[in-house]
Amino acid sequence: MPLPSSRTHGADVAVVGAGAAGLYAALCAARERARVVLISATPLAQTASYWAQGGLAAALAADDSFELHLRDTETAGRALVRRSAAEILVREAPDCVRDLQALGVRFDADRFGQLALGLEGGHSVRRVVHAGGSATGRRVVRQLSALVAEEPLISVLEGARAQALWRSEDRCRGLICDDGRVIGARAVVIATGGAAALWARTTNPPGSQGLGMLLAHAAGAALADLELLQFHPTAVIGVRGREGFLVTEAIRGEGATLHDATGERFVDELAPRDEVSRAIQARLQETGARSVGLDMRAIDPAHFPNVVAALRDAGLDPARELIPVAPAAHYMMGGIVTDLDARSTVQGLYAVGEASCTGLHGANRLASNSLSECFVFARRSVTDALSRPRIRTAPPTPGEIEALSELPAPARADAATREALWRDAGIVRSREGLSRLLKAPHLLARLIARCALERTESRGAHLRIEHPDRDPSLDHRHVIVEDAESISWQTWS
Ligand SMILES: Cc1cc2nc3c(=O)[nH]c(=O)nc-3n(C[C@H](O)[C@H](O)[C@H](O)COP(=O)(O)OP(=O)(O)OC[C@H]3O[C@@H](n4cnc5c(N)ncnc54)[C@H](O)[C@@H]3O)c2cc1C
Repeated sequence: MPLPSSRTHGADVAVVGAGAAGLYAALCAARERARVVLISATPLAQTASYWAQGGLAAALAADDSFELHLRDTETAGRALVRRSAAEILVREAPDCVRDLQALGVRFDADRFGQLALGLEGGHSVRRVVHAGGSATGRRVVRQLSALVAEEPLISVLEGARAQALWRSEDRCRGLICDDGRVIGARAVVIATGGAAALWARTTNPPGSQGLGMLLAHAAGAALADLELLQFHPTAVIGVRGREGFLVTEAIRGEGATLHDATGERFVDELAPRDEVSRAIQARLQETGARSVGLDMRAIDPAHFPNVVAALRDAGLDPARELIPVAPAAHYMMGGIVTDLDARSTVQGLYAVGEASCTGLHGANRLASNSLSECFVFARRSVTDALSRPRIRTAPPTPGEIEALSELPAPARADAATREALWRDAGIVRSREGLSRLLKAPHLLARLIARCALERTESRGAHLRIEHPDRDPSLDHRHVIVEDAESISWQTWS
């Protein structure tokens, strides 16, 4: 436990994490004249949000509708989407796009000045808003960060890691950082991102190891669906310095194709991610190759400048050669259980963005729904938090420090654990491998194995070799991790 220092902060809202969800939550709270402390462990460029290439899904086109966006989300999610959460997403995402524009984010427009909407896998119409082509995350995060830096109501604690949550009288009242700083707050919003960097092969920045999930779990909050980890089909493989670099789905949306070693196309490139990942994995197993080839020679490089530049930096020429790609761990659908206002099961503790599990992604996230989710539910979290009666926000006294729920050790996974997750909880999972993973030294790795063993079926991103089919009796059933690693099931609608 870090020794509490004399540096204390009292705030209305403490936001942990400065990706898309955390930055926007902080700005929405400040707009309501709330005092905010924003804690960020890593520099901007190391958030998943900064790396996002695709964009935000929102039903904005004339040929689109909430119903169509909802239908695509539910189809991708494989009978596990929590409809109430998905309905909120599709209805509120367009307004979040407009709000981001009002905050100065410049999304790409067509020659008539209308938003230029992209097509991605699983979407039946063009629906994805971009900024700077494939630099969406970077552009959005930079703009929101600039606004946060200028906002006097927001204090930013950079390079600080939330180490423990302070819980007393059955509610969360603040947190303590690894440098000993203590923050008392009416509400703590966990916006710490996902956990895909727990897997050895990943598209995520190294910090995405589920620290917020561990913190919330330590404080008694329920987690859910930890077995549901999406693999992105097209991460660069076998190229030094660019291992895991993601080549956005939008490139396939514009016509890029996938080919095996013989040059043959073998999958509908615009099918949902679970299907494309599985098809690639199967082809790799059949042929013994390490990668398949992504042919983007017909793609206009001007539309995806940062992808093309990154590939060229790595010595690949997408205008002339196929890019070697294979699936990698990409997005954690599971996380901290939240209701429709982003409230966790602990009073005063909220979770937004990839750290949360609203249930809206079901068993397979529809591409570009996650950034939209970050904004929609970040706004909801602070609206709810600030509508509740005020409580004392003074930092804890020494006696109260005893009530801290600390990150379990080790908080970060070592290389062996990450390899074990890739091997035993990868695209294809077996009882034997998952049972082995139950002995991992890392708590989240063990919880992932517990949940994956519990789900005795194959659905979306979760493929069990002994249970190759979907079990209809598990439709809309979610695996819940309560305290002390106890597992139960809940039906969400
Ligand atoms: C390469 C890539 C491309 C993607 N493309 C898209 C896309 O086009 N569209 C889309 O919708 N989604 C995309 N995604 C997914 C999407 O980017 C993420 O789901 C989303 O950005 C997560 O945002 P977040 O705010 O929840 O977390 P993050 O952006 O990951 O931010 C987490 C923050 O929490 C901080 N943090 C973590 N632990 C602690 C701690 N203990 N104390 C203090 N701070 C902490 C980190 O430092 C960081 O600031 C992509 C993901 C990747 C990796």
